[in-house]
Amino acid sequence: MTGKLECPFCKHVQEKEIPEDVCLPFYVCAKCGNKVMAQDKCCVFCQYGDKPCPMGHED
Ligand SMILES: [Zn+2]
Ligand SMILES: [Zn+2]
Repeated sequence: MTGKLECPFCKHVQEKEIPEDVCLPFYVCAKCGNKVMAQDKCCVFCQYGDKPCPMGHED
C-alpha cells in the first residue's frame, strides 16, 4: 500500500510505500530535500499523509 505525503515545508506531495510492520518517523522530501519529522503522531503517514498507517492507531 502506498500513501501520499505532503511536505510541510514546500507542500510537495509524493507517494511512498507504507511499511506494514514499522512506523516511519521521518522521510526526506523529494523536492526540497528537507527531513520531515513526525511531531505528535506515530509516523509521517499519520501526520502528513492522506491515510494513516496500518498499525491500528486510533488517537
Ligand atoms: Zn518539501
Ligand atoms: Zn502511524
